[in-house]
Amino acid sequence: LVSRMRRFGTTIFAEMSALAVRTGSINLGQGFPDTDGPASMLDRAVEAIRSGVNQYPPGPGLPQLRQAVSEHRRLHYGLDYDPDGEVLVTVGATEAIAATVLALCEQGDEVIAFEPYYDSYAASIALAGARLAAVTLRPKEGRFTFDPDELRAAVTPRTRAILVNSPHNPTGTVFTPEELAVIAEVCQERDLIAITDEVYEHLTFDGVAHVPLATLPGMRERTVMISSAGKTFSVTGWKTGWVCAPPELTRAAQTVKQFLTFTVGGPWQLAVAHGLREELGWVAELRAALQSKRDRLMSGLSGAGFEVLKPSGTYFVQTDIRPLGFTDGLELTRRLPELAGVVAIPTQVFYDHPERGRHFVRFAFCKKDEVIDEAVTRLKRLG
Ligand code: PMP
Ligand code: GLN
Repeated sequence: LVSRMRRFGTTIFAEMSALAVRTGSINLGQGFPDTDGPASMLDRAVEAIRSGVNQYPPGPGLPQLRQAVSEHRRLHYGLDYDPDGEVLVTVGATEAIAATVLALCEQGDEVIAFEPYYDSYAASIALAGARLAAVTLRPKEGRFTFDPDELRAAVTPRTRAILVNSPHNPTGTVFTPEELAVIAEVCQERDLIAITDEVYEHLTFDGVAHVPLATLPGMRERTVMISSAGKTFSVTGWKTGWVCAPPELTRAAQTVKQFLTFTVGGPWQLAVAHGLREELGWVAELRAALQSKRDRLMSGLSGAGFEVLKPSGTYFVQTDIRPLGFTDGLELTRRLPELAGVVAIPTQVFYDHPERGRHFVRFAFCKKDEVIDEAVTRLKRLG
């Protein structure tokens, strides 16, 4: 293994899901729902396979999906992206992020990301030979946020881009218009590209709205907007995502994408196009159901003795484990199957400064109510 990848090893999601299987624990670690997406969308994928959509689709994606993504952006956010040239279909948001970073960063460039950050960011940046500069999100008045001065101070002459994930995994923060305005100002003052990871765009709660950074004045032309179908339609295994960006940035990502995977499975593309057009009502129901699951898990976890931070989006809850007498989340999550028959994710692994997240543990609530209830019953053994 090349030296720049040596520190990566096995992802925490693989480690913890394997631990759950090995010990028969309830898996509130890796974020995936335990129910399926909309039936009509699943049918569309089967029908596509049966009707012979089984050879290579075009590299940029099937026109039906590019068109549906473009319409979705216009309808929800008032953003216009030309399906021919400003939309690129990718193998999940993961490939979109990797292709974009590899396309835009020279060796030695820097990319800013807010820690704790989704693990693929650091790996994609390392693959490009670039450096991740982490700006820390800290709890303040019950939600994780950043200090604008720390963000400004993180920019150097080598900074090429800021990776912005909102709704944010693993903290559940949805950036406010004010926070986004600070990021937009820094991007424009320092001539940076924004790469936005918006995979949880539809999963926000309590009436909080997701605002894409690209909708802020002056940002569309310097933003690579990324999302995917996995979270929106509960099909995390379909790995179908997309990039929306001005032509030059889309072309750059596409140039790289051609040689990572060339294209994306056709049946998934047609089914997701159908979902974006016909199943947003289903997504609204999912959002409402998730909000009540969030509340269910939060009250259960506080009953079990955790300090719980309320997320405005995603399907994750952050907990502080110190009230239970624990100090190290990695140590606790590795023992949690034996202590309680539950698997969770230690938040510290998503930091460049692990000590800043040592006492946080992430639990997923995208599970059936009875699974959440059973997990809570088990976790009460910890107290
Ligand atoms: N970004 C974030 C913040 C995520 O939580 C995930 C995990 N689903 C991804 C990207 C990857 O998305 P995909 O499965 O579409 O590649
Ligand atoms: N996004 C999922 C999570 O945060 C995991 C995806 C993965 O396994 N790579 O739990």
